[in-house]
Order: sequence, then structure tokens, then C-alpha cells
Amino acid sequence: MDKLRRRAWAEIDLKALEHNYHTLRVMLPQGCRLLAPVKADAYGHGAIPVARKLEALGADYLAVASLDEGIELRRAEVKAPILILGHTDPVWAGELLEHDLTQGVFDEETARALSRAAVREGRTLTVHMKADTGMSRLGLLCDERGLEAAAETMARMYALPGLRWEGIFTHFSHADGSEEYTMLQFTRFLDLLTVLEGKGITFKIRHCAASAAVLNYPCTYLDMVRPGIAFYGHYPDPSCQGLDGSGLTPLMTLKARVASVKSLPAGTAVSYGRTRVLERESRLAVLTIGYGDGLPRACSDRLRVWVGGGYATVVGRICMDLCMVDVTDLPGVKPGDEAELYGPHVPVEDAAELAGTIQYELLCNVSKRIPRIYLD
Ligand SMILES: *Cc1c(COP(=O)(O)O)cnc(C)c1O
Repeated sequence: MDKLRRRAWAEIDLKALEHNYHTLRVMLPQGCRLLAPVKADAYGHGAIPVARKLEALGADYLAVASLDEGIELRRAEVKAPILILGHTDPVWAGELLEHDLTQGVFDEETARALSRAAVREGRTLTVHMKADTGMSRLGLLCDERGLEAAAETMARMYALPGLRWEGIFTHFSHADGSEEYTMLQFTRFLDLLTVLEGKGITFKIRHCAASAAVLNYPCTYLDMVRPGIAFYGHYPDPSCQGLDGSGLTPLMTLKARVASVKSLPAGTAVSYGRTRVLERESRLAVLTIGYGDGLPRACSDRLRVWVGGGYATVVGRICMDLCMVDVTDLPGVKPGDEAELYGPHVPVEDAAELAGTIQYELLCNVSKRIPRIYLD
């Protein structure tokens, strides 16, 4: 697409992905595998180009949330192992086998159904066992009281035909805030592994660390780590910046254009609901981006964007396709200029804070209407 025709777009810097990949890789001991989560369209960055780049860089594993996300990558000729972290109904076992996808398994019922389907097809499905050590999301509950029962259930699952139990994993709920709780979860996981080992049950790939644990707790790396947000150049929480040395670089810069600039007298009401009345004569620039593009409406009247070499604040409500910013003090701004909404001058974390959410959500919410432009 011709650059000047673009209304609003996201530049995705694959060189930054490469930098983050190496930053993460050098933190790991020899032999520790690196899994890259590319779920939710690679956190809004575009699953196929990101997965291809990660594969070329040497990522050992990819992860998605659903069967459809996995098939999308296989259709794009991505060959790396892919783990489906979320639920897949066993009626789709044939698709898992056909596309060589690894499935996370959370309960005995599903394991049995997957086993029957694999045996029927005369094939072996690769699976990872999920343990719930305190997130209370997916997996068999493995707290102190549930440990023995969970291990017995897992032993039965492990013995089923047609399944290859390549891995076992758990997920931390508070690795960006509580060392105590993270270590409790990690201890539960290690205890589970010990009990299973006593039953002769072992796994090649034991994994538990997402970005926060990768940055905070090297003791949790085991055989593989699963940092997501860190690959995209963001810290799960400001408290996690420390171990990675050279720093992570964000991939995405969200941009739009100045559609028009005009001066308006003091006392003029701006945008829907007239939430803002100009206190002084002002020059307002209209930007070609709005909540229909994923820019949170909750940032109305507050977000600072970068345009014409300076900062301009959103005035009034963000509309579906447009928003207004005050460029009174930026006399050079003219129609056709580029504006940065998230990027090196405007951390998406700032917008997330204004919107009362986290950077993960804003990245995922950059809408389908925004073309992703890949820089490499
Ligand atoms: C999304 C996800 C990750 C990655 O989390 P980040 O905080 O982005 O690093 C890791 N593991 C599981 C199970 C996930 O769902």
C-alpha cells in the first residue's frame, strides 16, 4: 500500500524482535528451550510474520491459544513445534494430528477422549500436562492437599495409549509482584514432579516461567521458558526491569495522520458530549485514528501524543475514527503530518495507565483496520 494513502498504521520492527530474542536467549543456561507465545495474533503484532521471524531466529517452540491459531500458522508453512495453551474439544483431535500441533491437557476426561481418537487414527498425539499450582485457571489442582490425588490422576493419564507426554507445565499468577507466592507455586510444581518421578513418570520439557518469572526468577527456568510480552519489548511490570542487561525494545509504533488543523476561539466546545470547552484560542489538529482502531476511548482528554516534533494532548472525547489534539504550541503541524500514538515517544504503558488497563490489552486491541507494516 502506498505510504501516503495510509490513514493509520502500525510499524512492527522485526529488528527489535531479533534484539529481544537475543536478549532473552543469553539469559538462559545452555540447553534451556525458548518458547515464544504468538497467541492473540502475536499480541496484536501479526502472528504469521512474527512467527516466521521467530522461527528463523531459532525459537524452539511457539504457543497459541487455540486450534485455529495453530492451523493459521501451519497454513503459513511455520514448521516449529506449536503448543496450544488453551482448550481444544477432543472432537478436533484429527486436526491436531494432521497439523502436528501439541495440545495442553488439563483433565482426565479430555486425555481419555484424545487418547481414543489418536488410537483410532493409529497415530500419536503430542501433549503437555497442565498443573494448577495456584493460578486457579487451567490444570489439575496441585496444592498441598490436592497433590497426591492430582499425581494419581496424572499417572492414569500418562498411561493412556496414543499420547506422547512430552511436557508438563504450570503458570504463575503473581511473578510480577510476590516472590513469596511465586516460590510457593514453584515449590508445589517441584513437589509434584518429585511425586511423579517416584511413580516412574518423567517429562522431557518442564516449564513454568512467563516474562515476569524470566526477568525475576532464573531459578524457575527448568527446561523451557515462555516469555510473551518480553518478546514484544515490554516489561510485564516496571518492577521487572533488571536482569536483562541490554534492555527490551518495543516492536510496535502506532501512527496516524493529521487530517486537518484549525484555530478555534476560546469558549468553543470540542467533540461528542462537549466534555471540553476551550479555555483559550486554540489550534486543534484532527488525527485519523479513534477507538475503532483500538485507541481506548478512556484516554479521551488526557493522552499525550507525539506530532510535529512535540507533544500534543487529546482534547475532548476520542471518536470512532478520529480524535482531536491541541497543537497550539506546535505551530509547524500541518495536514498530512504523521502522529505517533504508541511508540518510542509515547510508551503504550502510559496510555494503558490512563485507560485503567495494561499494555497487553492495548497491544491486542489494535484493530484489524490497522495495517501492520513490517520493518526488517
Ligand atoms: C500468555 C501466556 C504466557 C506469556 O505471558 P507473558 O506475561 O506475556 O510473558 C505464558 N504462559 C501461558 C500459559 C500464557 O497463557
